[in-house]
Amino acid sequence: MKIVLLGPPGAGKGTQAKFISEKYSIPHISTGDIFRKNIAEKTQLGLKAKSYLDAGKLVPDEVTIDIVKDRLGNEDCKNGFLLDGFPRTVTQAEALDLFLDNKDQKIDTTLLIDVPKESILERMTGRRVCSSCGASYHVKFNPTKVNGKCDICGGDVVQRKDDTEVTVKDRLNIYDEQTQPLIGYYKKQNKLSTINGTGDINEVFKRVKISLEAYLDDNNKN
Ligand code: ADP
Ligand code: AMP
Repeated sequence: MKIVLLGPPGAGKGTQAKFISEKYSIPHISTGDIFRKNIAEKTQLGLKAKSYLDAGKLVPDEVTIDIVKDRLGNEDCKNGFLLDGFPRTVTQAEALDLFLDNKDQKIDTTLLIDVPKESILERMTGRRVCSSCGASYHVKFNPTKVNGKCDICGGDVVQRKDDTEVTVKDRLNIYDEQTQPLIGYYKKQNKLSTINGTGDINEVFKRVKISLEAYLDDNNKN
C-alpha cells in the first residue's frame, strides 16, 4: 500500500507511522527524520536544511521533492511506503503524483489525523524524540520506560529544537497556509480518510487499522 499521512505538526503522524509500518510491512518515510539525520551528520543537505528546521519554516520544495523521489526509488519501496510529513505543499503533492504516474503507480489512500488545535501545543512542547531511531514519546502521554532512553533502540531521547512554544505557533500557521489545502487536493481524488486523533495512542491506531482494512477490502489488495 502507498499511504500518505496528513495532519498538523503534533497530530501523532510519527507515532502512528511506527505502528502502521510494522503492521503492514512498509517503510516509514519521514522527511523531517531525513532532514534531522542529515543535520546531525553535517551533510550538504543538512547544512542547507538546518536554518529552515530551526526556524520552523518549510525547506524549499525543489530540495524536498528531490529527496523524496530519490528515497522512493529504493528497493524497499517496491511494494509500498508510508509518507509522513510529505507532501506539505500542493506543489509537492503534484510532483509526487507525477513521479508515481510516470511509473504507472499512485497513492492508494491518505489518512488525515485530526486533532483539535488546543491539544497540539501540549503534545508538541511535551514531545521527546529518540536521536537515534526517531521514535516519538511524550513526557505525560507516552513516556519512555527508562528516563531519557528510547524503548526501541536505547538511544538518547531529547527535545527537538523546533518544539518550543514560539516555533510551534509559527509551524501551525505554516500548516494552515501551505499544508491544509492538501485536504481538498486529496478529497477531490477521493483518497481522504479522516481519523479522529484524540484519545489513547492505541485507540487511534485501532481507528487507523479500521480505515486501512476497509480500503483493502474495497480494493482487494494486500
Ligand atoms: P507528528 O509526527 O504528527 O508531528 P508525533 O507522532 O511526534 O506527531 O506526536 C506529537 C506528540 O504527541 C508526541 O509527543 C507524541 O508522543 C504525542 N502523541 C501522539 N499521539 C498521541 C495521542 N493519541 N494522545 C496523546 N499524545 C499523543
Ligand atoms: P516534521 O518532523 O515533519 O515535524 O518536520 C520538521 C521540519 O522539517 C519542518 O518544520 C520543516 O522545516 C522540515 N520539513 C519536513 N518535511 C518537509 C516537507 N515536506 N517540506 C518542507 N519542509 C519539510
